[in-house]
Amino acid sequence: MYTHIIIHYDEITLKGGNRPFFERVLMNNIREFIKDVEYNKIYKEGGKIIVEINKDTDLEKIKEILKNIPGVSNFYFAVSEEKDLEKINKKTVELLILRQAQDDRNDKIKTFKIEARRSDKKFEFKSPEINAKVGEFVLERTELKVDVHQPDLEMIVDVGNKNCFIYFEKTKGIGGLPVGIAGKLVSLLSGGIDSPVASFMMMKRGAKIIFVHFKNKTINNTGDDKIKNLVRKLSCFQGKSKLYIVPFEEFQKEIIAKIPSKNRMIIYRRIMFKLAEMIAKKENAKGFITGDSLSQVASQTLENIGVIYNSANLPIFSPLIGMNKQEIIDLAAKIKTYKTSILQYQDCCSFLIAKHPETRGNLEEILKQEENLEISKIAERIINEAKPEII
Ligand code: ATP
Ligand code: MG
Repeated sequence: MYTHIIIHYDEITLKGGNRPFFERVLMNNIREFIKDVEYNKIYKEGGKIIVEINKDTDLEKIKEILKNIPGVSNFYFAVSEEKDLEKINKKTVELLILRQAQDDRNDKIKTFKIEARRSDKKFEFKSPEINAKVGEFVLERTELKVDVHQPDLEMIVDVGNKNCFIYFEKTKGIGGLPVGIAGKLVSLLSGGIDSPVASFMMMKRGAKIIFVHFKNKTINNTGDDKIKNLVRKLSCFQGKSKLYIVPFEEFQKEIIAKIPSKNRMIIYRRIMFKLAEMIAKKENAKGFITGDSLSQVASQTLENIGVIYNSANLPIFSPLIGMNKQEIIDLAAKIKTYKTSILQYQDCCSFLIAKHPETRGNLEEILKQEENLEISKIAERIINEAKPEII
């Protein structure tokens, strides 16, 4: 029955001169995501992206994909009709009847509303007239009643330049902005609950994310499945992702030998930023993402965040900073990373640290202790050897 999918985007419309660029990125992203789905063509028309589908299009599959693409505010499956009021009337009733028959709550659809949109300003009827005329026709041919405030079903009659689309039942997308319009960021991905959620939040603000995970294989020889699975889940939102798994054991060996246990965690994290910066340079990324949330754990006191972030020369984005743990967990469940995040995995940040790590890190003291570390050669070699996997 359906002939097209009508995709709406929201924030892009606010972006003035950048709008054509943003629209192009969104269209390319959608095209890439649906390349394995059967359809006829994709094009832009009057502030919407339209996918022309055919009888072989897997509607469920395409729906699942579109729901996850940042920048898509909502979308509808639609039927195309000629711009002729009589034909529009008939098609609307036909669709309504089909919809009622399909509906398992079918006796619940008792009221409707016609919502006309008219981007073709030359069309012979204005929107209120279309509402009235199509509505009247539906009233004559069905048992349905009009309810303009809380209808059981709202039918949109969208008169464009070439043809008219009739559609109902909105599927919500995740909104935000298309991945790629903001440039690249390196996400420090730990395998915990927080950093995947933080990465998702920055994707929907237009960033393309490169993932970096630091791993000490002497404490974790369970393979990299957990980390790769997390990245795989996040790739549903941004498409293929690069993941660097960087061996961290040599750095930790040096830190453990020379740094008191109280300060190790702070220094682990400072070194992570130094290494991530070398990767950011390679990848032309403009900043970092972490899953930090203020006061959640010892590394996230105001003092420690200050000392840790001080080691980076690029901006650090921590979108969860003001969120509560439960809010983060709810979002992790929604983006389907939660179940993977809670699988057993020892993060190297907690390796051989004091039972009560420093919560009020002192920058001067930390910088002094760091002077003893000989890691620049190791860093150069390890980062030179690091090759990303595409997931
Ligand atoms: P998460 O739930 O993201 O693991 P957390 O609450 O456990 O965070 P920490 O372990 O202190 O807190 O980590 C804080 C942040 O440091 C993480 O969100 C992540 O961005 C970064 N991080 C920690 N460990 C690693 C790691 N092994 N590799 C890459 N980044 C890491
Ligand atoms: Mg963690």
